[in-house]
Amino acid sequence: MSILPIIQVQNLNHSFGEGNLKKPVLIDINLDIYPGEIIILTGPSGSGKTTLLTLIGALRSMQEGSLKILEQELYGASAKQLVKIRSRIGFIFQAHNLLKSLTAWENVTMPLKLQPHIKNRQALAVEILTLVGLADRTHYYPDSLSGGQKQRVAIARALVSKPQLILADEPTAALDSKSGREVVNLMQTLAQEKKCTILMVTHDNRVLDVADRIIKMEDGCLIPK
Ligand code: ADP
Ligand code: MG
Repeated sequence: MSILPIIQVQNLNHSFGEGNLKKPVLIDINLDIYPGEIIILTGPSGSGKTTLLTLIGALRSMQEGSLKILEQELYGASAKQLVKIRSRIGFIFQAHNLLKSLTAWENVTMPLKLQPHIKNRQALAVEILTLVGLADRTHYYPDSLSGGQKQRVAIARALVSKPQLILADEPTAALDSKSGREVVNLMQTLAQEKKCTILMVTHDNRVLDVADRIIKMEDGCLIPK
């Protein structure tokens, strides 16, 4: 295939702790993910999913192996290169991590601060909040939004800079099944519209059908199909 993977993981190992307490958490991970794919990563709690996601997102330093994200090798990359890569990724976490002192649109414009060439930040934020169905909530603070609405603001924030890659860690965990479904449908629609790739960790069996591919992790290993 001539298309390059957007995520290429090769022989990745990762441990926590030192000496006798050293505990391998990821063992010889190999994984290719291609542009436009929606991949779901499942597996029991403690199997290493979040660790893998944070490594792929350049949020944690690598120890061993190769990790090419958006054509940048992360192993041995400089702090500056890591910041640059992170700015090209949209992150959605279980806890939405919205800033309470900022309104919905102010939260959504946060990632754009890293991109000074973007001028019409407020208009972009309002546009994306409209896409996620929150046009009438742009000036609301997180405390006056429901769980599903907060998660939709977090999705808008992840998408506002039009990232080619979205990493989502249990984005529906804090939601009831109806809002969980809505949030995932929204991610799927927006991914198709913006042509981005999504790697999503979830235990939620109700949303598995959005995936092009489901990969499973157990005890730090990816289980081959
Ligand atoms: P999952 O997301 O699949 O639940 P994690 O990647 O969070 O799994 O954790 C994998 C393993 O690594 C677990 O045993 C966890 O206790 C351990 N772990 C995760 N983060 C740390 C850390 N910062 N320091 C030490 N151990 C950690
Ligand atoms: Mg986790």
